[in-house]
Amino acid sequence: MKRITILGATGSIGESTLDVVGRHPDRYRVFALAARHSHERLLAQCLRFEPAYAVLADPKAAALLREQLARHNSRTEVLEGPHAAAQVAAAAETDLVMAAIVGAAGLASTLAAARAGKTILLANKEAIVMAGPVFLAAVRDGGARVLPIDSEHNAVFQCLPADGSRIGVRRIVLTASGGPFRSMSESDMERVTPEQAVAHPNWSMGRKISVDSATMMNKGLELIEAHFLFEMPPERLDVLIHPQSIVHSMVEYVDGSLLAQLGNPDMRTPIAHAMAWPARIDSGVSMLDLAAHGRLDFELPDPARFPCLRLAREALSAGAAAPCVLNAANEIAVDAFLDRRIRFTDIFRVCEATLDDIGAAGAPADTEAVIALDASARSAANLHLSRLAR
Ligand code: NAD
Ligand code: MG
Repeated sequence: MKRITILGATGSIGESTLDVVGRHPDRYRVFALAARHSHERLLAQCLRFEPAYAVLADPKAAALLREQLARHNSRTEVLEGPHAAAQVAAAAETDLVMAAIVGAAGLASTLAAARAGKTILLANKEAIVMAGPVFLAAVRDGGARVLPIDSEHNAVFQCLPADGSRIGVRRIVLTASGGPFRSMSESDMERVTPEQAVAHPNWSMGRKISVDSATMMNKGLELIEAHFLFEMPPERLDVLIHPQSIVHSMVEYVDGSLLAQLGNPDMRTPIAHAMAWPARIDSGVSMLDLAAHGRLDFELPDPARFPCLRLAREALSAGAAAPCVLNAANEIAVDAFLDRRIRFTDIFRVCEATLDDIGAAGAPADTEAVIALDASARSAANLHLSRLAR
């Protein structure tokens, strides 16, 4: 029996994780569920999975949840505040930690799981993008293990040599759907709405990552994530557009082999893979019917229409402060776009301007430095926002 803590339980990844857990009550017990403020969703999850702890960052929402749970005579204890997620992530009673809080808000709890030597199921890509070397050092020092949840990285993990070596590996190719605006002109992109941007053609995901997919910043963040996770130099990481989202990524070997992982676009496959690794369990995802699909298409991304992808590549090559600065600027810009304060195409402008300001700073050496750099990048990005805001 493995005990699991789910950080970001009420989100898209959190709900998919609970769906897989619910299929295997003999293998998994939920130790803790953490979210920001969705107390109603968390209540339903607590009543079904009976975790020892439920965590809400927002104290008002936590009070409401506590009241509701008491009414149901639940034994789940409610914790609140900004540090509670890290507390349950590091608790001795948990084996697996699903890190699925969105954005930099997930850094502290993901780091806490690393330092406590947990098996981290890593969905929160922003944490590794902003704090790559610091996070990996915490994993090493804590004796933790990281299993990728991001579908591309999970695919790469499955296609790399099973002994953990990189023997014969030439290149990693991340596939990208191209998002909802794959074939839209640059001028039409100036006018797209948040509703259009979050309507992903293949995947159902949270709002932030859906916008990232539409700008293709998501693929850029994933290049950075792959660089850190798989210790691959930038020049051996590539992106290929594959609109059907069936091939989830590929590893190219020196002998001409190209290994790919395929499956229906449903996050329960990578989640179940990582939860059970190295075993395999049913995920609830239907088997891929290739004959029904008939064809799979591939094309190169267009850097002119998707400048965020180019910018992320530049940040990856520059290294040091650049990935952290890019991530922070992007979070600020995406929020502003979702609030209708800036245009879709301004997301790139904010990120580029913020990188120009402070992207060339030195690499943050520890967690405090990462947090400080993230904060300065947010201030710089907010300044650029106020100039662009409508
Ligand atoms: P989501 O918006 O659906 O859910 C986010 C979750 O984080 C919610 O449970 C929310 O309550 C929680 N949260 C936000 N701020 C918090 C805070 N301050 N403290 C505690 N909890 C907080 O997002 P999602 O789509 O599930 O994505 C989660 C992460 O997984 C992101 O980093 C995303 O990039 C990554 N990811 C998602 C998918 C996907 O298919 N959804 C695929 C790959 C990677
Ligand atoms: Mg992905």
